Amino acid sequence: MHYSGVVYRPPYEANSLLLEVTHGCSHNKCTFCSMYPDVQFAVCPFEQIKDDINEASVYYPNVTRVFLEHGDAFVLSAERLLKIADLIHHKLPEVKTIAMYASIQNIKSKTDDELKRLADAGIGGLDIGVESGLDEALAYMNKGHTATEAREQLLRLRKAGMDYSFNAILGCAGSDLWKENADATAELINAVQPHLLFIGTLHAEQGCRLYEDMKNGTFKECTIGQLLDEQERLLSKLELKDTIYFGSHPSNIAPMQALLPKHKEEMIRYVKDIRNDLKAHLDEYPLRGSEGTILNR
Ligand code: SF4
Repeated sequence: MHYSGVVYRPPYEANSLLLEVTHGCSHNKCTFCSMYPDVQFAVCPFEQIKDDINEASVYYPNVTRVFLEHGDAFVLSAERLLKIADLIHHKLPEVKTIAMYASIQNIKSKTDDELKRLADAGIGGLDIGVESGLDEALAYMNKGHTATEAREQLLRLRKAGMDYSFNAILGCAGSDLWKENADATAELINAVQPHLLFIGTLHAEQGCRLYEDMKNGTFKECTIGQLLDEQERLLSKLELKDTIYFGSHPSNIAPMQALLPKHKEEMIRYVKDIRNDLKAHLDEYPLRGSEGTILNR
């Protein structure tokens, strides 16, 4: 298999076959991102993809899920994705889902008919960094979409029958706007009713603009208390019908996995309990290790 550079995948893709179809990210401008600092975005040659699928058919013939690499593989044209899906189903007949990272702009560039054809070809489980429902936060994070665009495009995906993970970042509007961020993000999540909600907490590693902005004070990070308050406020405002909450990312102060609405009250209680345990540290900032791991929980 061909893999270039660091290979990223969502935690729930641990058992998926990782298949490289692009290098880097076509956007590569999010303020908080240091995933592909020196990688020039490129589309992998079809022959390489074909060779990798042939190799996988020998070593992993029973694989049921494939994750297309890298940062926003859904940027590929519908025709190319359909060609890749065709090859995968031909050589790996047990595959049910072909997942990948996607952006709101990637969805926007496809017609309704293309989205439907992609869904029919088993493409789904898109991992989408929506991050926030607050336009101020989205603009600072340089996501390339507004909350209204996110809402429209996610509803188009739903209509096409494609499922996805809605990724949101606690603390991404900073310490002055944490309440507004919780409210606007909950409103957007409620409007689109994602099947999977992936929650992380803002952190920055050297090599991105956010890291510099945090250091020089241009961006005011949330304290531990504000992050917990934002999480509690977000949870209390969520009105979901059937959503998996995946919040066990190490960057979270109150990590948890649960179902909504079933566990909503328990989840809120859990955040309150952690707040209580940390009451001597609420005005401090999270101490972080690699990948944003919280060290002073
Ligand atoms: S879209 Fe994803 S990979 Fe690309 S710059 Fe933004 S966070 Fe990074």
